[in-house]
Amino acid sequence: MEYEIVAIRYATKQERTAGSNFLFPDDHAAKMPIDYFVWAITGGGRTIVVDTGFGAAAAARRGSTLLRSTAAALALVGIDAATVKDVVLTHMHYDHAGCMDAFPQAIFHLQDAEMSFATGRCMCHKPLRIPMEVEDVVTAVRHVFADRVRFHDGTATIAPGITLHLVGGHSGGLQIVRVPTARGHVVLASDAAHFWANIRTRNPFPLVVDVARMAEGWRICEELADSPDHIIPGHDPLVLQRFPKMPGQPDVALLHEPPAD
Ligand SMILES: [Zn+2]
Ligand SMILES: [Zn+2]
Repeated sequence: MEYEIVAIRYATKQERTAGSNFLFPDDHAAKMPIDYFVWAITGGGRTIVVDTGFGAAAAARRGSTLLRSTAAALALVGIDAATVKDVVLTHMHYDHAGCMDAFPQAIFHLQDAEMSFATGRCMCHKPLRIPMEVEDVVTAVRHVFADRVRFHDGTATIAPGITLHLVGGHSGGLQIVRVPTARGHVVLASDAAHFWANIRTRNPFPLVVDVARMAEGWRICEELADSPDHIIPGHDPLVLQRFPKMPGQPDVALLHEPPAD
């Protein structure tokens, strides 16, 4: 089985510097914008959405530029969020778990460790809860009680050939997604690597729960992906620059095709 994968940019933050993106920056003040994506995997009659973005309220609170809602982002590639059955939440940070309401028919795939992290003692500590929106966490808990969360503990197969892998590091239970495509196995790394530069230079993103596990996560990404170009970082503007775009859609990158460079 081979799948197609798109990355759809739904938000951006242009006013950001390298000091916010690396634990050990060469130049703190250098401009380094960040993009926000949702991803969609299609093939064999299945549609799997990876992460749910954030809405207008969170964008305003956190100073990001929302380009479009999550539902509108998916509509760009012909996906109706209201009919999607499977959504992977890589982790519970606000920019990945914010718009679950856009998916009224979905089951949400989440690691046990991430739910424990998002609802337990770690949230007593401000630096760990800053990237969380309490309403998103409460929504996830409500979905547990409505039989709409599929918990995983480590590696899991969610469709033929598509696997989830627990890496942690950046959050308590961050998971990544491995997908077979025509060009080989692609890994949607989400925030296991915000930028290719984090993984290439072994320089962690500063928002980190466990540096050792983050570093091990880079190794896991490399082990699961067919090459460094098969690892898709979670927030890198280079994704849209390097990969072919869907015709007429400057914010949609085709990840099942090789990068142009
Ligand atoms: Zn994150
Ligand atoms: Zn993120």
